[in-house]
Amino acid sequence: MLAQPSLDVVIVGGGTAGWMTASALTKLLPGRCHVHLVESEEIGIVGVGEATLPHIRGFNERLGIDEAEFMARTRATFKLGIEFENWGKIGDSYIHPFGTFGRAQGDIGFHQYWLRMVHEGRTVEDLEQYSLGCMIARLGKFDLPSSDPAQIASTFNYAYQFDATLFAPFLRQIAESLGAQRTEGRIVDAEIDGETGNITAIRLANGERITGDLFVDCSGFASLLIGKTLNEPFQDWSKWLPCDRAVAMPCKTETAVTPYTSAIAMDAGWRWRIPLQHRTGNGYVHASGFTDEQTAIDALVASVEGSRSRTLGCCASVPAVASGAGWAIAFPSVWPAVSLSRWNRLASILSRQRSPL
Ligand SMILES: Cc1cc2nc3c(=O)[nH]c(=O)nc-3n(C[C@H](O)[C@H](O)[C@H](O)COP(=O)(O)OP(=O)(O)OC[C@H]3O[C@@H](n4cnc5c(N)ncnc54)[C@H](O)[C@@H]3O)c2cc1C
Repeated sequence: MLAQPSLDVVIVGGGTAGWMTASALTKLLPGRCHVHLVESEEIGIVGVGEATLPHIRGFNERLGIDEAEFMARTRATFKLGIEFENWGKIGDSYIHPFGTFGRAQGDIGFHQYWLRMVHEGRTVEDLEQYSLGCMIARLGKFDLPSSDPAQIASTFNYAYQFDATLFAPFLRQIAESLGAQRTEGRIVDAEIDGETGNITAIRLANGERITGDLFVDCSGFASLLIGKTLNEPFQDWSKWLPCDRAVAMPCKTETAVTPYTSAIAMDAGWRWRIPLQHRTGNGYVHASGFTDEQTAIDALVASVEGSRSRTLGCCASVPAVASGAGWAIAFPSVWPAVSLSRWNRLASILSRQRSPL
């Protein structure tokens, strides 16, 4: 078998996506790639992706990240699911757990039997009562799940809520220790091969030119390579996803930390509540067609518990198809999972043996 040539991979952007890609490529495909990441501190990162799904644990495990160290460094808390408040009607609350409800019979899920009993008018407990994950979350407790499928403690899973501004620097340390190169600078242009249409180099404001075999666009909402260079058209999903703005406001954590994220319905969208070790992240994802920004800010300030840990942190436009898509549609936490699925695809392509022909 022929040795595979090493690839020069240029990663554009050093937010969560950029450093996840850099750390994963350097750790999992050693010798296969030389990783060069370019980011601009002047532009900065979004840094508000605080709630995650259990996929993030698979990522951390594959990179050999120690859980206790990760949690200490990113001020993380455990997350058993997402609580949806006031979605059906005011006063409604249900937890979507990272786990199962009851026990399936053959191919038929437990909830099918539960629904049947409800439709037949029979007395049944709330569905939550049949989920250990929900019950632990409601009690504000946490324990690690069991790996023994015979144990009821194997029926739930968990993720983390962490400070996104600390996660990228944590991964940066791993990537750089494994040989990733970082360049600070603002990218102003990209070069394209006239025949193939492939990107061949990027250019920085200081005149520096960086060439590569493979370019990974992790520039977030800027979409430098995919949108601006390759002119991939932006798909407008606002017809289905009217929430296009968000305001965020972290608070001091003054109440008990809940082991779940809350998504609470509001007049013109929904707000998130994400308890971390040192603060609680809050934000209101709203539809600009149904409210104005000041009204959204006032509504958020009136809703959050705990005193503000700093002034209104961010007020972002959330394009429907981009890194914020999951947020617009009220599925908090999906972003790392989306990023991971793209990363897995990239890794499988890069690790594939090339035919010598
Ligand atoms: C208000 C809000 C709340 C959110 N909360 C959550 C959440 O709780 N959970 C979740 O999963 N997701 C959440 N998201 C989504 C998540 O935060 C983002 O999708 C994620 O942070 C995006 O990371 P990224 O690395 O793709 O982009 P970014 O963090 O924006 O990083 C982009 C990088 O590109 C660089 N860059 C851009 N332009 C240039 C240039 N010209 N030259 C050089 N470098 C450049 C920047 O410097 C930066 O390093 C939220 C999004 C928003 C808007």
